Amino acid sequence: MTATLIDGKAFAATLRARIATEVAQMKDHGITPGLAVVLVGEDPASQVYVRSKGKMTREVGMNSYEHRLPAETDQDSLLNLITRLNNDPAVNGILVQLPLPKHLDESLVINAIDPAKDVDGFHIQNVGLLATGQKAMVPCTPLGCLMLLRDRLGSLSGKRAVIIGRSNIVGKPMAQLLLRDSATVTIAHSRTENLPALCREADILVAAVGRPKMVKADWIKPGATVIDVGINRTDDGLVGDVDFAAAREVAGAITPVPGGVGPMTIACLLANTLTATARSNGLPDPD
Ligand code: NDP
Repeated sequence: MTATLIDGKAFAATLRARIATEVAQMKDHGITPGLAVVLVGEDPASQVYVRSKGKMTREVGMNSYEHRLPAETDQDSLLNLITRLNNDPAVNGILVQLPLPKHLDESLVINAIDPAKDVDGFHIQNVGLLATGQKAMVPCTPLGCLMLLRDRLGSLSGKRAVIIGRSNIVGKPMAQLLLRDSATVTIAHSRTENLPALCREADILVAAVGRPKMVKADWIKPGATVIDVGINRTDDGLVGDVDFAAAREVAGAITPVPGGVGPMTIACLLANTLTATARSNGLPDPD
């Protein structure tokens, strides 16, 4: 039986519409959420992401502040900008687009962001809060994956989850979120032995690797829910980490690429900006 398509694009549109309604309500009380995005250099993919983040931010009624800095920007200038944004009451969320040019210290820059404005959830304080089950800013891509999984499966309690990839921005926070929802979680990576057999145990399989079509149909347990985070630009266009056409014949549900996890990432960025705005104004967290 062909798997159900998990329509991240539609889910994200609904989420953005809900956010727009909440933004309108905040504006009635004189509060307009503001998101500042900092881009250093001219990386083409980053430019596309930043443009689309700005557009979506404005579409839900938030203020978007874009700071484009030349590739040769030095560390102190970047840190000064972050301090200014930290102190600016009109800015509720700060996102520094990664990767940064090689001469800049990514960890230092991220950890200079006020954790309350760290809408990417990469500040070490938010990482620690998430890992210890406390109220944190949660990284957008895994948060989007979690929403899709909950929507599809309801409770994740006791489900066997395998995540391929252990990056700080996807794999590790994904594991924390699934653990928080009481899934039984395994993280696989480039040194994992017998990866196909491990994947075949998974009720939930999350692929966050960056290798086109690496996950084959026979790695998938029949009926499993497959979340494909990968975005790979190939001669055949944009493809995920999962061999989608074949996997679709085995999985129970699967996200397409594009139109799966990607749109959820930006929607969750807006959701985090709304949450940061609510918290800084002493309002309850939005739903
Ligand atoms: P990283 O390159 O930081 O991490 C990739 C991970 O995959 C590493 O942990 C690596 O293992 C593991 N890996 C690499 N090769 C293999 C292999 N042969 N077998 C098993 N594991 C392997 O990538 P990211 O986490 O940043 O991103 C992963 C993918 O997700 C990329 O395609 C990226 O473009 C996409 N992405 C999509 C987003 C979206 O919005 N949809 C957002 C962010 C990322 P090891 O640690 O051992 O090297």
